[in-house]
Amino acid sequence: MTQIIELIVKHDFVRQYKNKYPLINKESIVNPDALSREGAIVHLHDDHHTFLAKGYYGEQNKGLGWVLSFDEGEKIDGVFFKNKILTAINKRQSFYKDESTTAFRIFNGEGDGIGGLTIDYFDGYYLINWYSEGIYSFKEKVITVLDELGDYKAIYEKKRFDSKGQYIDDDDFVKGVRGEFPIIIKENGMNYAVYLNDGAMVGIFLDQRDVRQAIRDQYAKGKHVLNTFSYTGAFSIAASLGGASKTTSVDLAKRSKSKTIEQFSINGIDFEQQDIIVMDVFDYFKYAKRKDLKFDLIILDPPSFARSKKHTFSTAKNYPDLIKDSLAILEKNGVIVASTNNASFGMKKFKGFIEKGFRTMNMKFNILDEFALPADFQADRNFKQGNYLKVVIVQKVN
Ligand code: SAH
Repeated sequence: MTQIIELIVKHDFVRQYKNKYPLINKESIVNPDALSREGAIVHLHDDHHTFLAKGYYGEQNKGLGWVLSFDEGEKIDGVFFKNKILTAINKRQSFYKDESTTAFRIFNGEGDGIGGLTIDYFDGYYLINWYSEGIYSFKEKVITVLDELGDYKAIYEKKRFDSKGQYIDDDDFVKGVRGEFPIIIKENGMNYAVYLNDGAMVGIFLDQRDVRQAIRDQYAKGKHVLNTFSYTGAFSIAASLGGASKTTSVDLAKRSKSKTIEQFSINGIDFEQQDIIVMDVFDYFKYAKRKDLKFDLIILDPPSFARSKKHTFSTAKNYPDLIKDSLAILEKNGVIVASTNNASFGMKKFKGFIEKGFRTMNMKFNILDEFALPADFQADRNFKQGNYLKVVIVQKVN
């Protein structure tokens, strides 16, 4: 029988677990030293030995592990994993039925009852993300469930738990028949090239699906669009398909250019009519200002932290500057799509950053739209940080 580790919850944190908080944080535990082998089942008790929750030990930057059940009688076994995954898949039936969208998340960590594990579906392929050595120790159980579901092309995985909590570069193929990449997935009728075995990122961030659709259907027509931190240009494709007069994509990474060309090409768009620029965004803002370039729609979707040779950028500190730089090159009545995936602050604070950027330029704005995670990125309402995506679409008032 597997050994169970008893963890005692500090008095001040007992209520949090009674309220079904799913993360096991170091600061809430009296005896974290009792933990040794990742993947071990842990029971949380208060100091009177009353049961609070059970979970597993798996270290992530977020904490020591995740609660799996608040029910003392529930076993953490193959049946447990099967029930959680099947329940999650059932909730996504509308996605499976939608032929115009063939890539979506089928399991979203704590939002679906197992923190540290996500599973995405890419047109017949599964991609599993393991966020700790601990959750990785349950690999067999997860694969067994996918096997029982049957009828997949292959399973790939990303092990996101090196010493810094980053992706471990490896052959990510698990089983099935190896894919020939890129595979072309559909999202609301748009094509995107996806590489499941080429590093940590696959070419598209599925959590921005609703935003891409809104840009295509509501904000792009006839507009000159600047897409900053553009990666493979996913937003530029949406804008272009929505009738943008032109798109300009800017990313520091050299690989972004060929990837963006590929995304345009598989959508039948002549990439030579678009600008795809490999440059530091902060330099681009200066360049555009100097050249007196102006844009109708500017998309800001920076990573939470970025360090380039010249700049260190943190969304928590520098977002107002990003807004300010954008306003300097925004047309009259222009629109900014401001996005962040930083989990350390909420929507209210994010709007404060946007407001500060406008205030320093003595300008005003109207909020046109707001987005959070899409439906397949199911969140746990007892875990606010899990709902990390914040997108606000604002229009400059002249
Ligand atoms: N908006 C993209 C995802 C952005 S991922 C999408 O929707 O698909 C973050 C990107 O920012 C990466 O491609 C990275 O190369 C780029 N990046 C980070 N720092 C940058 C900087 N200072 N200037 C330009 N690009 C930067």
